[in-house]
Amino acid sequence: MLNGGIYTVDAARSWAEAAAIDEGIIVAVGSNQYIRQFIGDATEVIDLDGRMAMPGIHDSHIHPLEGGYESVYCDVTEADSVDRLVGTLSACARRVEGEWLNALGLDWSLFGVDGPDNSILDGIADDRYIFVDGVDGHSALVNDKALRLAGIDENSEDPPQGVIERRKGSREPSGTLREAARDMVDKLRPPRDLATSIQAMRSAMQRMNALGITSVYDVWIGEHEMQVYQALEEAGELTVRVLGAITDDGVFERHSGEYLERVIRERGRYESDLISYDSIKIFVDGVVEGETAALLEPYKNADHLGTLNHSANDLQSRVQRFYDAGMQLHFHTMGDGAARAALDAIEYARDNGPAEHLELRHTLSHLGLIDPADMPRFAELNTGASFTLAWGTTDEWTYKLEMPVLGKERVKRLYPIRSVAEAGGMVLGGSDWNYGDLDPLISIEAGITRDDPYGPNSAGDFKVFDDETVNLETLIDAYTINGAWQIHAEEVAGSIEPGKRADLVIYDRNLFEIDPYEISEAQVDLTMFDGRVVYRRSSDTKE
Ligand SMILES: [Zn+2]
Repeated sequence: MLNGGIYTVDAARSWAEAAAIDEGIIVAVGSNQYIRQFIGDATEVIDLDGRMAMPGIHDSHIHPLEGGYESVYCDVTEADSVDRLVGTLSACARRVEGEWLNALGLDWSLFGVDGPDNSILDGIADDRYIFVDGVDGHSALVNDKALRLAGIDENSEDPPQGVIERRKGSREPSGTLREAARDMVDKLRPPRDLATSIQAMRSAMQRMNALGITSVYDVWIGEHEMQVYQALEEAGELTVRVLGAITDDGVFERHSGEYLERVIRERGRYESDLISYDSIKIFVDGVVEGETAALLEPYKNADHLGTLNHSANDLQSRVQRFYDAGMQLHFHTMGDGAARAALDAIEYARDNGPAEHLELRHTLSHLGLIDPADMPRFAELNTGASFTLAWGTTDEWTYKLEMPVLGKERVKRLYPIRSVAEAGGMVLGGSDWNYGDLDPLISIEAGITRDDPYGPNSAGDFKVFDDETVNLETLIDAYTINGAWQIHAEEVAGSIEPGKRADLVIYDRNLFEIDPYEISEAQVDLTMFDGRVVYRRSSDTKE
């Protein structure tokens, strides 16, 4: 590579004009003149022509297989009216065969608070089971045939931690199922077969590479996902580094007891130089807008604190068991109460577990709210803070869904990345794809501006996040070198320095020289993984 803008993310955060790569390894970084001596007959020269290159992007909280299924299941994400929803589903029913019609991406805002009635599905595929998963993954709409299969009728009680929505004035199920009620039908769907999942994961990797992503923390791992990654690696098609977190059994039935023990025990045979699974994902709480995020102070106009999925004792003993076994912890924490519970459990495990495990690197993810007293604890407890910054912007969601339940003072402190960074914590960025937007530049722009990256601020003059903005340097660290730390890859990735593997991205413009509001418009021109070009832009626009 010559004639850059190479932002190396080395210790001095220095810039270089050029870099030489051989056999997948960065062998030299420096001036054009210095690097030219490495050019031989068989060298491919990439002329950066002033464009910016930097280390490949790391996503610190992502669900790649789920995202990949967007391309093999019926995707209704774009349906912005009931008519379009029905149209998309009908088209899928003609295209995709099988006993089940599986769709994902249902937008709940098309309907009232009780969700849709499944009569809208009539006539689409009455002889098949229809399962339309919500964009949030917490609720689903199913047809009557699927309800019957699960034995859900007017006599069914709501399961613990779940809701069966009913038709107005009756006990008849409407087809909208929430949380554990969704699971009652979900668990009857045929397990995903390996071939389809490989196809989905291949598509996910292509989409990630096209956005400059070269490593991920995959937070939904079971035996099936391990088999998928292994098959792709054996075929030479694995184009991201992976640290996978095995999903804990606390909330989801599929990952329970014996099964979980076996997956943990046997994980080693799925690991390689590119993949490891020494991590466990634990759900500590829920979400703000559903008032299931666990808070330290009550919700506004309600006298409750949200929900911790585990009692303090239960969480502590779970964490201790995994910690003692040498597993790193990855927590879903949204509220400040959840963040505190997770940090307390980590602290207890570190105080009472084997000393050699103090080096384990844990992560709290999402981090809508963190109490000021807990900010320094990330650094103290060797724990990374993964923020879902695309959610931390001033938009209609914040205004209509978070303001009413949290109040303005707490909304101001949502996604407090600056406070954690200033307290010395290792800050990270995650998309939570496919529940969030995969594009890291959307999140990076959001982290700088805290304004709606999709266009004019949909909440008008309402703007509250000024205190928690961070600069581009901090965010690039979060998405590169800090990410390499999170997956123990800092010796091989995270910066463009001699001796490291060549994971890098080339943008069509220099992110430091443009208006922050234009960052999400930048295009990835090329992505290199382990010295191989895995994406080269051919068209002019983002997909
Ligand atoms: Zn997630």
